[in-house]
Amino acid sequence: MKPPITWPSGTTSAVSITFDLDAETAWISRDAANINRLSVMSQGAYGPKVGVPLILDFLDRNRLTSTFFVPGWTAERWPDVVAEIHRRGHEIGHHGYLHEALEGKSREEEELILTGSSRILADITGTRPVGYRAPLYEITPETTSLLAKHGFLYASNLQDSLWPYRHPEAPSLVELPASWILDDGPFFAFGLRPNLYRQIFPPAQVLSVWRDEFRGIRAVGGLTMLILHPQYTGRPSRLNMLQELVDEMRDTEGVWFVNGVELARYALTAAANTGTDGRPRA
Ligand SMILES: [Zn+2]
Repeated sequence: MKPPITWPSGTTSAVSITFDLDAETAWISRDAANINRLSVMSQGAYGPKVGVPLILDFLDRNRLTSTFFVPGWTAERWPDVVAEIHRRGHEIGHHGYLHEALEGKSREEEELILTGSSRILADITGTRPVGYRAPLYEITPETTSLLAKHGFLYASNLQDSLWPYRHPEAPSLVELPASWILDDGPFFAFGLRPNLYRQIFPPAQVLSVWRDEFRGIRAVGGLTMLILHPQYTGRPSRLNMLQELVDEMRDTEGVWFVNGVELARYALTAAANTGTDGRPRA
């Protein structure tokens, strides 16, 4: 088995540490009545208020460039935070408007969300986003062609590969596959409204899951795509855990730390020889 992508010279696998800055939309989209539940809303607000400043310092300390996927609503509510993320050199990607599910929406409605939030983000950063992650990763049969039509370079929603690939029906669009196991939500998301009452995992256990995942993916020359949320991973104990993980990744030979847009641009070059279905080569 060989990876269906040729990594840049000197590297044999990639790591992408990305953040979904849902903020309050994570809670409003689950239950509109949450907008009047101030403590529930404050769970989301922790992300832009405290999580992001801690994360930006973390990224600086580790000389990492990241991607933050931001819903349009969040960008309108916290424009200074989005501007600061951009100013510090990180990519701002598209993440819906109100973190709405696309299921049941028409192509026209989906396109309006796409173009509307692109405009909101561009008003802050000066450029349209080229990376797209759907809320809850859930895309529709229309999404890929809409992204290609509107000039997106990549999406990061599907869970069917360990390597970047070009969409067969839209080869100008790269998929950077995600996975729930490398998402902090299943380990850290907790709430009462709606009922997300479940065990909060200790950082050490999550480190063990992610470290093993990283070691396995690296061994097959894959992409370790972390999907983190400032409102969850932006807590000091969890950032300490992330530091341990990044330290091990740094000490591992041939690991390429890269954000979404840089990885997508590379995957579209001839040198990458990126596959169109995400399957390993014989
Ligand atoms: Zn999200």
